[in-house]
Amino acid sequence: MARAAGIDLGTTNSVIAAWEGGEADVIPNAEGQRTTPSVVAFTDNGERLVGQLARRQAILNPKGTIYSVKRFIGRKFDEIREEAEQVTYDVVADDQGNARISVRGKLYAPEEISAMILRKLADDAGRHLGEKVNEAVVTVPAYFNDAQRTATRDAGKIAGLEVLRIINEPTAAALAYGLDKQQHETVLVFDLGGGTFDVSILDVGDGVVEVRATAGDTHLGGDDFDRRIVDYLAEEFQKENHIDLRKDPQALQRLYEAAEKAKIELSSVTQTQVNLPFVTADQNGPKHLTATLMRSTFEQITSDLIERTMEPVKRAMSDAKVSSDDIDEVILVGGSTRIPAVQSLVRRLTGGKDPNMTVNPDEVVAVGAGIQAGVLKGDVSDVLLLDVTPLSLGVETQGGVMTRIVERNTTIPARRAETFSTAADNQPAVDVVVLQGERERAADNRVLGRFQLTDIRPAPRGEPQVEVTLDLDANGILNVTARDKDTGKEQGITISESSNLEAGEVDRMVQEADRNRTADQELRREIDARNELDALAYQVQRRLDELGDAAPPHERSRAEMLVTDARQAVSDQAPVDRVRELTEELQGVLAGLQAVSAGGGQPAGASDERSESSASDDDVIDAEFDRS
Ligand code: AMP
Repeated sequence: MARAAGIDLGTTNSVIAAWEGGEADVIPNAEGQRTTPSVVAFTDNGERLVGQLARRQAILNPKGTIYSVKRFIGRKFDEIREEAEQVTYDVVADDQGNARISVRGKLYAPEEISAMILRKLADDAGRHLGEKVNEAVVTVPAYFNDAQRTATRDAGKIAGLEVLRIINEPTAAALAYGLDKQQHETVLVFDLGGGTFDVSILDVGDGVVEVRATAGDTHLGGDDFDRRIVDYLAEEFQKENHIDLRKDPQALQRLYEAAEKAKIELSSVTQTQVNLPFVTADQNGPKHLTATLMRSTFEQITSDLIERTMEPVKRAMSDAKVSSDDIDEVILVGGSTRIPAVQSLVRRLTGGKDPNMTVNPDEVVAVGAGIQAGVLKGDVSDVLLLDVTPLSLGVETQGGVMTRIVERNTTIPARRAETFSTAADNQPAVDVVVLQGERERAADNRVLGRFQLTDIRPAPRGEPQVEVTLDLDANGILNVTARDKDTGKEQGITISESSNLEAGEVDRMVQEADRNRTADQELRREIDARNELDALAYQVQRRLDELGDAAPPHERSRAEMLVTDARQAVSDQAPVDRVRELTEELQGVLAGLQAVSAGGGQPAGASDERSESSASDDDVIDAEFDRS
């Protein structure tokens, strides 16, 4: 048997959970721990260590211990230049400018390092469950772009896992609390982990989670609190013994471990003891470090770190246009949210709300991912989908309007196709302009991308059938393809940031569309009317050409005059009344011409029924893609 699991692949720690006996449970690793440090080490003697063992020798092996690799995954070296300087190992650029880790003369992609962590998690879990874990839902921060998501997926592949889905960490947290089953709620997720801080505001309810805003600080987390304790203890020790422990890697490693332990203890007790016997030695013999650390001291030396979480919370709330009164639930994620001072601050920022932390904050994201894995494998049935499209998606069609293919708020994944045609005779190519937004006029929406489908076989306008498919996958990645149904030729593009608009921008676009609805609809009607007239003029002209001399002279000259007038009206963008008047007249003329039998006395219209009807049918959705 094989199993699917949920994996929280964190910057400092990772956690794996699987669906078992009606709930998602965290599975301990081989060392018996429920969280695994996201650390890989390459040692002097050629060993590769992953997790706690790797972390434990980090300070002694600074160049060979790779931590925080999540900061580099899916990134170009230029984007992470500064971050690269802050780690002890070497981060370099490969020939394509991608960030690579250089260890002991070998280059590793961040995906490969992440894969080693994923592999350990899956292997250990498999051993614990007695079944191989070969499928996973993996979480990423909500702000991760497509390259980072794709790279995370690739890390899964490298680890031999089939990544069922990539989901947002705050979404997973909401799922763990079952918030998706509630009515409609606004949820604030406050995630303070080992090295990063993220705040997200979610709209949750009816099985759908929408991330409305995210903010954070990519360099704020538990490690900073540890460092403050290390500095404090080292300085106290130095005052007494005139030795700086931070200069001795062995001592520093022990100091860090002791500092983290003390910090964790101070979350539940108000004072703790730090004891490091034989931490160093001088000419007088061995030295021991013993200190008492009060919670109040810890709070003083870290107060600025706690304060730093305020600004992103405020920013996220303002981007999502919510005040603390609008927030229905606060979820705490990340081990560092156990710090009492952090909890008090969150309470203060959210108008005194008691944060929800009944699900272990280090585990909540993995649990949510585990639930999602259960859903995808059909083990859980009452949880629905996760994300929705924030704005409609479509293409530009004749007259510069947007034809929507995927409507706003459609749950993803979604796949929709629509057939369009050409706007001119023998048009060899169509331009597909992919749009996002709520306005009728193409120019008022956002262009996500464009491409050409070429080599369309010469044919009268309206005849070629071009099927445009928008395929939005569960990870928010949009694939657009255009296929010529005649030749089977296909062209397409992948658009990664279709749903990565800032929440504020989404709201603005929706409100603007609301405000302009009437004017937009009027504009749309005018454009539709002109398109209809244009198509009709074309049909009349074709009928005249078919009939040749069989067309009665009087009717021909009236028809020709009307066709000229119609084309003029279309190109001059004549008022809609004039357009409608001409449309009626031309419809009459066309009916008359169709009643005339061409040459051999065929019944009216029978000669070319198919193409004519297809031209008029298609006109409704006809895309002018391009007249070139
Ligand atoms: P995460 O990345 O969510 O696993 O968070 C890890 C961070 O949480 C590390 O810096 C831990 O030291 C910290 N942490 C874990 N438990 C506690 C606790 N009880 N009190 C304070 N910090 C904690």
